[in-house]
Amino acid sequence: MSVTSVNIEGARERWVRTGGVELCVAELGDASQPTVLLVHGYPDSKEVWSEVAERLADRFHVVLYDVRGHGRSTAPAPLRGGFTLEKLTDDFLAVADAVSPDRPVHLVGHDWGSVQGWEFATVERTEGRIASFTSMSGPSLDHFGHWIKNRMSRPTPRRAAQLIGQGAKSWYVYMLHTPVLPELAWRGPLGKRWPKMLQRLENVPADGYPTASLPQDAAHGAWLYRDNVRARLRRPRSDAYAHVPVQLITPLDDAFLSPKLYAELDHWVPQLIRRTLPAKHWIPRTRPDQLAAWISEFVRTNEDGIPARDTVATGPYADRFGGRLVLVTGAASGIGRATAFAFAEAGARIVAVDRDAEGATRTAEMARLIGAPEAWGEVVDVSDEQAMEKLAEKVATEYGIVDVLVNNAGIGLSGSFFDTTAEDWKKVLDVNLWGVIHGCRIFGKQMADRGQGGHIVNTASAAAYQPSRALPAYSTSKAAVLMLSECLRAELAGQGIGVSAICPGLVNTNITSTTRFAGADATEEKRLQKKTSRLYGLRNFPPEKVASAILRAVAKNQAVVPVTPEARGAHLMSRFAPRTLRAIARLEPPL
Ligand code: NAD
Repeated sequence: MSVTSVNIEGARERWVRTGGVELCVAELGDASQPTVLLVHGYPDSKEVWSEVAERLADRFHVVLYDVRGHGRSTAPAPLRGGFTLEKLTDDFLAVADAVSPDRPVHLVGHDWGSVQGWEFATVERTEGRIASFTSMSGPSLDHFGHWIKNRMSRPTPRRAAQLIGQGAKSWYVYMLHTPVLPELAWRGPLGKRWPKMLQRLENVPADGYPTASLPQDAAHGAWLYRDNVRARLRRPRSDAYAHVPVQLITPLDDAFLSPKLYAELDHWVPQLIRRTLPAKHWIPRTRPDQLAAWISEFVRTNEDGIPARDTVATGPYADRFGGRLVLVTGAASGIGRATAFAFAEAGARIVAVDRDAEGATRTAEMARLIGAPEAWGEVVDVSDEQAMEKLAEKVATEYGIVDVLVNNAGIGLSGSFFDTTAEDWKKVLDVNLWGVIHGCRIFGKQMADRGQGGHIVNTASAAAYQPSRALPAYSTSKAAVLMLSECLRAELAGQGIGVSAICPGLVNTNITSTTRFAGADATEEKRLQKKTSRLYGLRNFPPEKVASAILRAVAKNQAVVPVTPEARGAHLMSRFAPRTLRAIARLEPPL
């Protein structure tokens, strides 16, 4: 059959002969740099790694090979018994010795490449040949075997549910154990439809992957399951401890593997770092930027001899936001600053944006102290479209595409409708609404164009759903932000981009001392600002709690998040007792 391959830019190919097969090996980058060895899964070939490999090649010696029987590597004869983990370990050692004879390699595996990787990282004969292991979407069969045994021997309702949950996700494993049928399906209709299925079900981009060798790869690869799964799950090794540091990357929406599978992994891995991604199974195709960033960081820290646990942030949500690029507007003060700090504590890279230059720089400096590996302060007026365009260009070229965008900058405006001038309206809408629109249009577009998901948070307010005679303009601006967020959430859902609207009640920040009071002269305005500040001070709800709610909203992809009890109460009333809320709206403000 004719075999074409996705072009991996700059790859040099060579052949490695081992145990009766010839393995096709591709190399990129400078061979004097640390070697990162990427092992593909099922049904895949080495080209599944093309996007990740190209991103790593400027820093590392990147090596990929077609597993025996896949891609351009030859298959063992007979097939039965030719795919045991012992033979696959021989292949790995032959490739590692050929490409990096003097230095251990940094192993990375996806799916069956990861299942193999666990074997390599836990058997004695590879000791000294592996410097680190990054595992994604493929457990150790030994660990999996013990995981099942633990749940069978000491069942609780939760453990039984986990067992049933993973059992249901493993339907394809039983199918692959039937003789002949999988081969017929892959060489027939399934092989033809698979590329379209990957695009539809997994959001894999239509960029020429999988390669034409897919039906053959899938037919041969069925022996990976038949030669190993039953035997290992029945008699898992009890000494399958990792002798290298491991980074575990878990896509949270994996249709084939439950994140619960890794619950007991700390027992097997003395040096374990966990990362999670809101993504499906085929992350080498759908999230190459994130994978390349995490692999680079892990390889670097291990090369420098620093235990990853000492450099990788360990705060709440560290597994979710570590190394991600987060941009927060209005980050010089209040909720924005607290949010930048909370993401920094989780190990994210921070762009702190504000029109207050000094405040933004200060936030960035403190974010670095708190745990951000990198942080920058940037000055912009969010209502200025051109300035926002320029900032977005700078951020994309210098720091990367934003993973989490927090449109938070906002100003207060109080006063009756007739006291509010057209100029007042313009100002509040320019910042509170147009600032959010520009952020979503410009940074959100970059996120969508990249095609690797992300999250947008817009700071609205409880005022978005709670009418009040005191805040007509401010409430209107926030109601618009809430609706914009809902509409955008619907539009971007299919692209893996979540949108959350945060609706705080009264939060103790500087906003009260800068809020404009329409209709009041300067002295009266000062008095009202002071009085409001005192009131908010007495209420004393800290911005840090809003920041926690923002991180939770991103992690759980929540749509509308009222924060503070009064905001939650008003939200319930807006749905179930709108007349009461309207009656409250008529009350004179207590100022
Ligand atoms: P804050 O005044 O402490 O912080 C707002 C920050 O935004 C400031 O650093 C300010 O310089 C910046 N900013 C204002 N206009 C800007 C512009 N045009 N361009 C760039 N930066 C600008 O206020 P906060 O309470 O932290 O407010 C943050 C967000 O939360 C706002 O959108 C606000 O409407 C909203 N909110 C606040 C409360 C509250 O009670 N504090 C309640 C609900 C919603």
